[in-house]
Amino acid sequence: MKGKCSAKYILMIILISLFTTISYSVYANVNKNVDKDTQKKILIINSYHFDETWEAQIFSGIKEGLSKEFKNVEYNFEYLDSKRSTLDLNEIKKNFTSKFKNQNYDLIVVCNDEALMVLNQIYNDIFLDTPVVYTSINKQDLKLGENLEEHSVGVREQFLISNAISFVIKTHNNVKTMNFMLDNTVSSKIFAEEIKKLQSKYDNCKFNIIQCEYINEALEKTEGNEKNSVNFMYGVYKDENGQIIDRDTISTIVYYHTKRELYTWSESWLNSVVVGGPIIEGIKIGELTGDLCYRILNGEDVNTMYDISNSSFKYVFYYEALNNFSINMKNLPSNSIVLNHPSVLKKIPMELKATIILIIAILTLLIIILLLRIEYKNKLYKQALEYENLRTEFFANISHELRTPLNIILSTLQLNDMHLKNGEIVYKNDAIYKRMDALKQNSRRLLKLINNLIDITKIDAGYFALQYENINIVEVVEDITMSAANYIERKNINLIFDTEIEDKVGCFDQDKIERVMLNLLSNAIKFTPQGGDIFVNIYDEDKWIKITVKDTGIGIPKDKQQIIFERFRQVENLLTRNQEGSGIGLSLTKSLIEMHGGELEVKSEIGQGSEFIIRLPIKECNRKCVVDKNTINNPQEKINLEFSDIYDD
Ligand code: ADP
Repeated sequence: MKGKCSAKYILMIILISLFTTISYSVYANVNKNVDKDTQKKILIINSYHFDETWEAQIFSGIKEGLSKEFKNVEYNFEYLDSKRSTLDLNEIKKNFTSKFKNQNYDLIVVCNDEALMVLNQIYNDIFLDTPVVYTSINKQDLKLGENLEEHSVGVREQFLISNAISFVIKTHNNVKTMNFMLDNTVSSKIFAEEIKKLQSKYDNCKFNIIQCEYINEALEKTEGNEKNSVNFMYGVYKDENGQIIDRDTISTIVYYHTKRELYTWSESWLNSVVVGGPIIEGIKIGELTGDLCYRILNGEDVNTMYDISNSSFKYVFYYEALNNFSINMKNLPSNSIVLNHPSVLKKIPMELKATIILIIAILTLLIIILLLRIEYKNKLYKQALEYENLRTEFFANISHELRTPLNIILSTLQLNDMHLKNGEIVYKNDAIYKRMDALKQNSRRLLKLINNLIDITKIDAGYFALQYENINIVEVVEDITMSAANYIERKNINLIFDTEIEDKVGCFDQDKIERVMLNLLSNAIKFTPQGGDIFVNIYDEDKWIKITVKDTGIGIPKDKQQIIFERFRQVENLLTRNQEGSGIGLSLTKSLIEMHGGELEVKSEIGQGSEFIIRLPIKECNRKCVVDKNTINNPQEKINLEFSDIYDD
């Protein structure tokens, strides 16, 4: 058992060591002798001249690919200038031999068909066994020498001209002629071959291939009229002096000659006169090339690497040209790139942009703070509301709880009175009568306070309902006032009642009107000294009735005349006042009047007296309410209750 186990372990250790050794040797093989700090020398052979966009993009891709790990790279450039002059192979060979025969390059990059064809001729003599990366190769059947074949790998372009043709056919459905402005370069020749093949697919459109050296010759060869032809720009032409003309100028010349849209599939041809089209991306090809260069410098064997074939393109357009030819941007393929688009943001100067961004950031911050504050306040408000509801509920409950025992005390006292009257009880001491009266009065005061609290709570909670019926308001006001007459006179105050009319029927809650009157009268009594007057007047105002309760009492200061209608507010504070009261009366009175659709106001002068003016609308009840007759019906008892907080002198 023990022996079996240790054999297993030994086998495992052997396997692990084997795996580690193989992995390391594979890794070491890939990275053999790769010292990333020693200088690398790369020769880049371009067929064009140095200011070509295309070459610049390929080079930036190579640099990008290598810079990740190779910090010390020396790039040497050689331009064949094939567009400007015809290549003389013997001349090139001589030139290259003198320049490069004794140079050792780690890598050679050739940037298109022409460059590769030249290298093919001189490779064995000058650069034998140096690894080569070729790029942007259009000629798929180019035969390389055996040595070069073995030491080279690259990126081949597979761009299909059909993409450009079908795009233009879709954009201009009446196009009858397409002028293809090509030249005599290898890639132009390859494109021309492809266009010729495609002609059979498009019966209604003639493909006119123009391949020449001079611009005048090219212009003469353009076909089609101003309405139904378009031009494709690719070739580079010379003027009559043999000077290469730059692409912007050629575009303008061709445009003025044909007055028709110019399209292209080459990035180098994008300018404000050329609309654009499906563009082969130099950057993309540069990246792919850079990746191959990196792998070779990293020790990978060229012979085991495969060519990369690139067929990707992007729809790129020039804003000015789109505008010039009235091409609607909405009709362009999705994901199209529009160069030079004058979006509002682009036109704004940098400093202004920074300020705008700063302002937006500050505003956003302020809005966030504001929203947070609002949310916080809402939370507090909700909490306060919840607390208020809880308090109101508590008030309602406690008030009801207080009223029950109080009613029992009051009815017991009333029963006692009855027994007294019937002679069933006799108090031997007069002081007991007085104490019993004080007991009654204070119980009533408590009951009044509790009733007011319950009503206010109900009004707040929206549960307070008036019990309307059609009543003669004049009669009701007069009766309740006259019921208080004795009481008022006992206080040595004169009560003078007067009315303009005897009958005015309207829809009111009689009990509440009586309470309003008694509250105003009780206040008038409280704040009017002996010998003073209280006037109750009724005025007819057609659709309204006006009732005033006026006294010649102490009056109310101007600045207090509004706050007395607020709940629990009194003119004098608890410590200085000499009259009892809770400060609820006027607030409740005002609410009751407003519930009738009326209004209450006060006019008062200090030392002269106060006048409370009620105005109530006269209207008939639509339907009769069920009036709760449980309320106290005995006017004397109502007076006792409402006047219970007036001091007996
Ligand atoms: P209270 O129960 O304290 O009387 P009210 O709401 O009825 O409460 O009155 C509020 C305050 O208004 C009184 O405390 C008093 O200061 C003032 N007030 C009311 N009526 C008169 C009046 N006729 N003359 C002078 N002051 C008055």
